[in-house]
Amino acid sequence: MTKRLQDKVAVITGGTSGIGKGTAELFVSHGCQVVIAGRSVDKGQAIADQLGDNCLYVEADVVDEQQIKRVMDNAVERFGKLDILFNNAGAAVGRSGVETITQDEFSHGLQLLLGSVVFGIKHAAVHMKAAGGGSIINNSSIAAHRYRQEGPLYSASKAAVSHYTRMAGVDLGPFNIRVNSVAPGAIATPIFYGGSERANSLTDEENATKMAKLEANLAKATPMPTSGYPLDIAEAVLFLASDEGRFVNCHDLVVDGGRIAMFHEDS
Ligand code: NAP
Repeated sequence: MTKRLQDKVAVITGGTSGIGKGTAELFVSHGCQVVIAGRSVDKGQAIADQLGDNCLYVEADVVDEQQIKRVMDNAVERFGKLDILFNNAGAAVGRSGVETITQDEFSHGLQLLLGSVVFGIKHAAVHMKAAGGGSIINNSSIAAHRYRQEGPLYSASKAAVSHYTRMAGVDLGPFNIRVNSVAPGAIATPIFYGGSERANSLTDEENATKMAKLEANLAKATPMPTSGYPLDIAEAVLFLASDEGRFVNCHDLVVDGGRIAMFHEDS
């Protein structure tokens, strides 16, 4: 197998579950040294142990700029540089409607979904400039483009992620740093049943039952005969992170099996 990220160093936020975990596994299999960040200490450490010396888990809450900075600095201290950042951490925040949303939901939602991307880019860029370039991929969503995929705040925050991606790609392009986003849809992960916090409170068997039900439901949500899986997004992120994506910048890559093109059933 050609190793497409040999000798590269990556940070993946939200690497303790779902899409981030799947991307960490794929990146390591392609020769990358990976730092995974998240709040779930036991899970994060178990994933790092399983992936071996090429993976480091760092506990971090991405609503805090200083903790984000520490993750980037830890990557450079442990592996010597930073080439790739996948700003992936997120949750289905702010489910309230436009007439019921609260200031707390607004502040937390925006800080988690947009702030983590803004400050991730800020603190990765300094290291990438020093290394002569890099690739940043932000996890947006088809919610950025489509009505009623989660609440309006989630959608608007993800739209901001997609547009911030374009702005950052223009500003950082002259330094050979590309900034792109992926916009997933219908990927079977715990985000659909309460996120990784809820998944952490369930047994393996309970998670497996929920996941099987979710996969069956999501299989009906796209034109394809299957739900999406974390690996489907990880492969797209791998392309954007690797040298094969060297002239792709400021792009929002939708990976949703075609859900975005379907008539919205409004449910
Ligand atoms: P998931 O399995 O629930 O994973 C979410 C990840 O984000 C976990 O690793 C979680 O880790 C981390 N996270 C959440 N809040 C955090 C915080 N405050 N600080 C640090 N890490 C935090 O869900 P997923 O589907 O893989 O979601 C990953 C990304 O994909 C999200 O940005 C989501 O919006 C986006 N997305 C997913 C879909 C989909 O169909 N699944 C569609 C569109 C977009 P800890 O709990 O350990 O902190």
